[in-house]
Amino acid sequence: MVFVSIRGRVLLNVEAMNMTESVGNYVKHRRVPVLLPDKGYTTYFVPAISGESIAHGFQVLLADEAKRANLSVCKLCEKGVFLKSTHENVYKEAFDQEPPKDEFQFESSVVGNCVVEDVGGFLYAPRAGGNVKRTSNFYTGYMIPVKESIESAVIEPQLHSRYALGTKFVEGGEGQMIYYVELSSAVYTFSFDLDARYIGRATFSVEKAGEEVVEDRKERTEVTLEAIKKFLIEFTFGAKKTRFLPAMEWESAVIAVSDDVWTIPSPFSVKYIENARKKLEKVNCNTELFVYPDGGSFEEVVIEAMEEAKSRVNGET
Ligand SMILES: [Zn+2]
Repeated sequence: MVFVSIRGRVLLNVEAMNMTESVGNYVKHRRVPVLLPDKGYTTYFVPAISGESIAHGFQVLLADEAKRANLSVCKLCEKGVFLKSTHENVYKEAFDQEPPKDEFQFESSVVGNCVVEDVGGFLYAPRAGGNVKRTSNFYTGYMIPVKESIESAVIEPQLHSRYALGTKFVEGGEGQMIYYVELSSAVYTFSFDLDARYIGRATFSVEKAGEEVVEDRKERTEVTLEAIKKFLIEFTFGAKKTRFLPAMEWESAVIAVSDDVWTIPSPFSVKYIENARKKLEKVNCNTELFVYPDGGSFEEVVIEAMEEAKSRVNGET
């Protein structure tokens, strides 16, 4: 098996990558509570980008990469609609067939026919009962301002207007709309892990967990690694990027490639790279660390790490 762990710190200036509700003409940035250990603990409400947002962006890319490699992707996932076999009707729409009654058969059919649901999991909850769930093989979470950035992270509403002066629409009240969009600037944490152990394998039924249910397990894993590479290099997630494309820059990043579960310590702490190296001295699963900026440009480090992961997949028997 191969386990890939990624942690980083990324500077995002003037971003609106994860908006929540809009109140009238005011669109709010997502906020989360974060504890800062000081003399005791202080709670800050800070801008954040959700793991769901990251996962959505990644799965769009994964669907594209899988299709490019001629691997199966269902009719909904290939369009970026990740309903993921929610119930009977979604299953029928996605796969053009009746859902199998048997749990193992059901999971095998979804995994076999959709790489996105194989890698990213699904939850089947039909009305008649008989739920089947598959846990995602990749893990990600909220991007929050790093520890030193907490007190200086800002959210600021910016006024915009839709210009309509000189047209008849102004009098009708349809022109010159003003609206506010909350923008944020901070150095954010980034976390993403891939545990390739169960890609192409059954997980739900206790008796059959671990059984290989596809014939292209290696290709699926390689495509997933290729998607991760592009995802990191092109940073393809987040909302409102057509008009609020952030000024972004990776400050640092570490990618660990291992033969078993090995996660990098949290980039919330400035010492996370040092902590990763210290951890490696004590715990080692044939782990290799790829560090930016020590190991070259960001792209070089990502490419090198993914090549190492792919070579391990190919070396598997
Ligand atoms: Zn699908």
